[in-house]
Amino acid sequence: MSTVEQQLDDLKAEITSELPNDISVSSVKYEGPELVVYTRDPKKFAQQGDLVRKLASKLRKRITIRPDPSVLSRPNEAREEIMGVIPDEAGVTDLDFHADTGEVVIEAEKPGMVIGRHGSTLREITKNVGWTPEVVRTPPIESSTVSNVRSFLKQERDERRDILEKVGRQIHREEMSDDEYVRITTLGCCREVGRASFIISTPETRILVDCGDKPGAEGEVPYLHAPEALGAGPQTIDAVVLTHAHLDHSALIPLLFKYGYDGPIYCTEPTRDLMGLLTLDYLDVAAKEGRTPPYESEQVREAIKHTIPLEYGDVTDIAPDVKLTFHNAGHILGSAVSHFHIGDGLYNVAFSGDIHYDDTRLFNGAVNDFPRVETLVLESTYGGRNDYQTDQADSEEHLKKVINETYEKGGKVVIPAFAVGRSQEIMLVIEEAMRSGDIPEMPVHLDGMIWEATAIHTTYPEYLRDDLRDRIFHDDENPFLAEEFNHIDAGEEERQDVADGEPCIILSTSGMVTGGPIMSWLGHIGPDPDSTLVFVGYQAQGTLGRRIQNGWDEIPTSEVGAMGNNGGGRGTLSLNMDVETVDGFSGHADRAGLENFVKTMNPRPEKVLCVHGDERSTQDLSSALYHDYNIRTFAPKNLETFRFL
Ligand SMILES: [Zn+2]
Repeated sequence: MSTVEQQLDDLKAEITSELPNDISVSSVKYEGPELVVYTRDPKKFAQQGDLVRKLASKLRKRITIRPDPSVLSRPNEAREEIMGVIPDEAGVTDLDFHADTGEVVIEAEKPGMVIGRHGSTLREITKNVGWTPEVVRTPPIESSTVSNVRSFLKQERDERRDILEKVGRQIHREEMSDDEYVRITTLGCCREVGRASFIISTPETRILVDCGDKPGAEGEVPYLHAPEALGAGPQTIDAVVLTHAHLDHSALIPLLFKYGYDGPIYCTEPTRDLMGLLTLDYLDVAAKEGRTPPYESEQVREAIKHTIPLEYGDVTDIAPDVKLTFHNAGHILGSAVSHFHIGDGLYNVAFSGDIHYDDTRLFNGAVNDFPRVETLVLESTYGGRNDYQTDQADSEEHLKKVINETYEKGGKVVIPAFAVGRSQEIMLVIEEAMRSGDIPEMPVHLDGMIWEATAIHTTYPEYLRDDLRDRIFHDDENPFLAEEFNHIDAGEEERQDVADGEPCIILSTSGMVTGGPIMSWLGHIGPDPDSTLVFVGYQAQGTLGRRIQNGWDEIPTSEVGAMGNNGGGRGTLSLNMDVETVDGFSGHADRAGLENFVKTMNPRPEKVLCVHGDERSTQDLSSALYHDYNIRTFAPKNLETFRFL
């Protein structure tokens, strides 16, 4: 008998002895990091509210109770009873019964009302019908990503259970080594931005953190074939942890499955969905530009199938000697500071991922409070000694002034923006400014992936800033549903109508004017001297956005024609619109924010690795943290290995 088998038998005996005599345990299984207890008495379980909590703390495991399939009532009867228990206002849109696991997935507009106070309604459901309810939110704005991911996971349910069981056995395997060490190897994003990737290794375990792309980089992107990484074979990686969905962290996660990896990916639920959206778009862009993409959409599906979503604050076993906990990073939807507890009190490492230290309109500021941390791996995008950002309130005033001036001239405001994060931030500024009369009411057109990304944001209000979350919970106050917002979904004809029409605001991808519908908007509106092009995000060297910012006003029509319309001929487009740059809307902490993150961190780490910034930023930040706080700091290069213990 294998040791995992033995372990499960022991657990079954222990659980049985902890339970009252009239509650039976029919089997005990691992599903990913969770321990699933099947019982023929689910109703009795539900009657004793804190039984599960007590078991979980006694066994130090995450526990799920499921009914033994033999005792389940028929779905049709159960449906009626469940609907009788849930208040009508919850807005249930779908019930989906899975007899193999005894679970019923309830999709509702107001999940909180299905859950009830401290889960009371959920327990009521199980008490009545025996089924184990699981609740998901009906997106307030229809999202094709969310519905595609959900229906795909439903369709792959059987295979997913096999995956979870296999992962569960991996996590709970017996520890083999008496050695004790912790090492981190840098596979990318050191003294550069892009291709974020690291390996944490212990004698038992190897964990890959992030796997991002960097277009045009020299060397492997990232250095996955280093001996510490896939060099020893993809099966030797225990788990992949993804801090957030931006492509410089996530783009090459699907590639791992092409290389033969078939283990779990841990991230938050919104990160999973955004990763799906952004990596599929990444393949799309590659195809349009005539490049061979590094993998196919099939591997994106594999990645989603292997994702085990975790919520902020869940302490989760991901290997025999490693526990992972995600905390809010304040950067984009679902972004997570990832804390690793290694061994039993042996060592603790936190990866910041990308962070924003202060609150923004969208998110609470990054969490920097941990039970223990010896080493911090810290992003340094704006770590340079002069990298201070404009105060957010000043930036907002500036944006409103530009909008007002353009409106008075009868022109249109065109804002190139990234679909995820900055767009929603700008939408919130505009919505509030219109509501309070700071700017006149006018249509705000959203083009490219912005609408879809916004829909994903409204699906996961728990991940947004407190007061924004509360507003979304009240439908009539959801700012993203304001009537000014219009989704451009009818293509070129609609753009032409908007361009010929009244003053308005247009938010469109791509954020650096490197393709996407923004090219078409430039074609339509570029020649109008009364209109304004407003940059609200960083424009990288070599992009059309940067060239326009630097004063380029004759754009080859071949560039504007990238959308297959307007242009295509020879010649140039005269850019007569005003060009403005409004700084200060950033998803990253500036130099002060990064220092404050470390200064107020509890506990203060012993060592900090400054990564994810150019050479100057990482070295500046590294030496400042050393001088100011007497911490041992490093600005590593790629392919270095640090031994911490
Ligand atoms: Zn990012």
